[in-house]
Amino acid sequence: MVGKAKKKVKIEVEKNQDPLEEALVLMPEDEEGPEVGIEDLPGVGPATAEKLREAGFDELLALAVMSPADLADQAEIGEAVASKIIAASKKMANIGGFLSGGALLERRREVQKLSSKVQSIDDLLGGGFETQALVEVYGAFGSGKTQIGHQLAVNCTLPLESGGLDGDVFYIDTEDTFRPERITQMARGLDLDPDQVLSRIHVARAYNSAHQMLLVDEIKRMSKGLDVKMIIVDSLTSHFRAEYIGRGMLANRQQKLNKHLKELKQLADINNALVLVTNQVHSKPDAMWGDPTKPIGGHVLAHASTFRLYLRKAKAGRRIARLVDSPNLPDGECVYNVTQEGLKD
Ligand code: ADP
Ligand code: MG
Repeated sequence: MVGKAKKKVKIEVEKNQDPLEEALVLMPEDEEGPEVGIEDLPGVGPATAEKLREAGFDELLALAVMSPADLADQAEIGEAVASKIIAASKKMANIGGFLSGGALLERRREVQKLSSKVQSIDDLLGGGFETQALVEVYGAFGSGKTQIGHQLAVNCTLPLESGGLDGDVFYIDTEDTFRPERITQMARGLDLDPDQVLSRIHVARAYNSAHQMLLVDEIKRMSKGLDVKMIIVDSLTSHFRAEYIGRGMLANRQQKLNKHLKELKQLADINNALVLVTNQVHSKPDAMWGDPTKPIGGHVLAHASTFRLYLRKAKAGRRIARLVDSPNLPDGECVYNVTQEGLKD
């Protein structure tokens, strides 16, 4: 029933809308009137409300986009109760209706842009990295994906007038390549106090793909009282790639990856935040991973990403970023440098 409505929205409202943008499309219009919260849900007493909050659900919308099994699991409540809560949240959050183009535009107006502090990259992206979006940065080993992650983490803490989002960053590190020392260098490069910058970047090492997915729940829990403006997963695919080996595992892997991306996209929508994921290109062609110049992750990731940046090295230590498949910007390339102080034109 709901699925049908979503499909219609997808086709009729915006042709480029991908399935993972459903939550965005179905976001209710801002209405005047009393705020309704999770305590107002029928059948939700203080104890259940507390459980929901502890699991990181403090908004109707966050509940409305869950599946009963996942909500039951995460909030430690029965599945039947979860099912009722979701249904009620959908009603009360007024989700499921069509939005006018004007309402969509209104929601798009909330989109903020994070500057890379590199003019050529910002120009390529039409002004910077957009919130409510999932950006995939892909490239070979050493192409500079992690450098972009570090630089944007630093920039995110800048005030709005300096091109930042004045927000906190969650960094899921799967390859053990996060370096506070590098953050310090880049913060100094922008005349920022490194300790202050570091205090706003929350890092967790993910030990396997299941842990990586659990960390998204942890972000929901921890984000209370913080203004989360960016979530980085570096790298999105390495654990999945290492754990799901062989053709027989492919469907299972894609399903897990899809779920992970949906949860990340929800975080982006709910917090008006930017999600940045990194991804490696195939190092060698094989049946499982295909074309060596294509990012891994296949269709699932291609559909989930709002923007995709392909990085490669150029001559004399310079770097090239190519914008691929943007919904509203022309494809193009830009050149920049990675220096001690960070990314530079
Ligand atoms: P990826 O994540 O794509 O594998 P990285 O983002 O780790 O690649 O990029 C590593 C490269 O970044 C290094 O090879 C080096 O050229 C550059 N780099 C890293 N740290 C510095 C620094 N302090 N000063 C200048 N360049 C650096
Ligand atoms: Mg890296």
